Amino acid sequence: MSCLFCKIVSLEIPAEIVAESELSVAFNDISPQAPTHVLIVPKKHFPNVAELANNNPATVADLFLLAEEIAKSRGLVGYRTVFNTGAEAGQSVFHAHLHLLGGRSLHWPPG
Ligand code: 5GP
Ligand code: ZN
Repeated sequence: MSCLFCKIVSLEIPAEIVAESELSVAFNDISPQAPTHVLIVPKKHFPNVAELANNNPATVADLFLLAEEIAKSRGLVGYRTVFNTGAEAGQSVFHAHLHLLGGRSLHWPPG
């Protein structure tokens, strides 16, 4: 399996892991766009969140619960959670991942 995030989940490739649940792993984004920029990924491989929701909906909830836990533990007053789906939306790694962004004022709409 040549998937980058599968390799991070299996510890084949190092990452700064910040939290974990039975179903998901959270690690710092290598190119942070905010003081908190964490990627929360299912341990099992799905190419995007639609596939994940179809096959394993409980894990979608788990990703958001882990995001909330990390945000609370850091005392974030607000945060943004984002799934990019498809290259046109900016998805570059085709293993479903929830971006958790916070620690600064975030603007809307995003670029
Ligand atoms: P996407 O563009 O697919 O929504 O998000 C992929 C994210 O993965 C990007 O924010 C990018 O900075 C991050 N990323 C890419 N390669 C690595 C890596 O090797 N390690 C970590 N921790 N993050 C990565
Ligand atoms: Zn994968």
